[in-house]
Amino acid sequence: MDYGMIGKIEKSKFYAEEAANRIHFDSLQVQIKGENNSHTVNYNFGKWGCDCDFFASRGVCSHTMAMERVLRNMVEIGIPAN
Ligand SMILES: [Zn+2]
Repeated sequence: MDYGMIGKIEKSKFYAEEAANRIHFDSLQVQIKGENNSHTVNYNFGKWGCDCDFFASRGVCSHTMAMERVLRNMVEIGIPAN
């Protein structure tokens, strides 16, 4: 492997370790495997969405809150509508 690539790999490890300070998500979409069904969760510049019934009525749900926990400082933390 060339010297340039070794340097890039080392830098990628550093960025990954510093993820909470250096990485900020603008948007994403994930599938969460629930107890019964899978749900699609999306995030776009601070706004969360989920296709589950609870989210439809409350604007927040276990799936979006789980993603906030996973991504911690890398996303805006949503405030429940109610
Ligand atoms: Zn949900």
